Amino acid sequence: MKNPAEINGRPDLALAPELTDLVERLASGQALEREELIRLIDGRSPELAESVFQKARQIRQSIYGTDVFARGLIEFTNYCKNDCYYCGIRAGNAKADRYRLTTEEILQCCEIGRDLGFRTFVLQGGEDPTYPPTIIADLVRKIDRQFPDCAITLSLGERPRKDFQLWREAGADRYLLRHETYNSDHYAFLHPPNMSRDNRIRCLYVLKELGYQVGCGFMVGSPGQTTAHLAEDLLFIQDFKPQMVGIGPFIPHQNTPFAKEKPGTLDLTLFLLGLLRLIAPNVLLPATTALGTISPTGRELGVQAGANVVMPNLSPISVRSKYLLYDNKICVGEEAAECRFCLNNRLDKIGYQLVVDRGDCAGFVANGARSVPTTNPEAFLSQ
Ligand code: SF4
Repeated sequence: MKNPAEINGRPDLALAPELTDLVERLASGQALEREELIRLIDGRSPELAESVFQKARQIRQSIYGTDVFARGLIEFTNYCKNDCYYCGIRAGNAKADRYRLTTEEILQCCEIGRDLGFRTFVLQGGEDPTYPPTIIADLVRKIDRQFPDCAITLSLGERPRKDFQLWREAGADRYLLRHETYNSDHYAFLHPPNMSRDNRIRCLYVLKELGYQVGCGFMVGSPGQTTAHLAEDLLFIQDFKPQMVGIGPFIPHQNTPFAKEKPGTLDLTLFLLGLLRLIAPNVLLPATTALGTISPTGRELGVQAGANVVMPNLSPISVRSKYLLYDNKICVGEEAAECRFCLNNRLDKIGYQLVVDRGDCAGFVANGARSVPTTNPEAFLSQ
């Protein structure tokens, strides 16, 4: 397996002193300006990447050791009312084979996951209006009662505040809502006109206010993305201070308007993972399935670049191949136990271990004091 640094960047740039200085500043907790982030990303070389990864590993080691947290992913509905241009389960994809899991089936997934050592369940789905908020709240309550030592993460898209509140009161601990891109023009390029960057960001601030551990994130290499957009994403994350950040390479899906677009690259995704660890030391950072899809050792490289979470699938095998946000997704045929065993082995080989732990964000205090972000949350919350 290649070292992550061997994959990254341009050898001619090697270790330019100005770029090394920017990395040092990030690693010492200083914020960088937009233009500095752009120079850092565009100027990456294998040597610079390795220095980022080394610092990222040191920081992660000092907070989480060599532990990697597993999240049991339950993809319980692939119906969605939205039409995001990059997504394989968008409403407009008439070829998608749709399914919904029942409450019993979801609880069964949790039971299998609990026995396998998972202590976090991630309930993920499209924005499916068939599940009223009260049904989701009931489901959360049941999981909370039946598996009290497990964290419940929801990933159900944009909802009104009252739904987020209902689910939080029912026992949901965390919420994942990738912002996809902080730049509003780029957001409009990736989404239909009825969706807006502002509403997405508003939801993230509401979730934070309600005391969730919140995850945002973005695709790397999505159509129309520039380095400036990535710098804006990093600045937003620097300000927003999420507990989790999910990033993965954009991978096209054949039945979307972006079917012919180029995928995001391994090298840029790894470099950004490393930078994210420097920017947000405590953050929970998954080495995503998409990373494992573009490279057979992508998830290991992700962990070596600073990630500390993996998200194997607990959904029944019968529906796995139907939840395809992008083409060629890995692990659609393996049982949950096989996935856990496989990931254990992969991590073991690079000196990390998959732990039986809820894996909460270090230092997180629900509804605790937060710094005032320069992105002005009030501007979003008042919308
Ligand atoms: S990305 Fe999410 S909201 Fe958009 S179409 Fe896909 S499942 Fe629906």
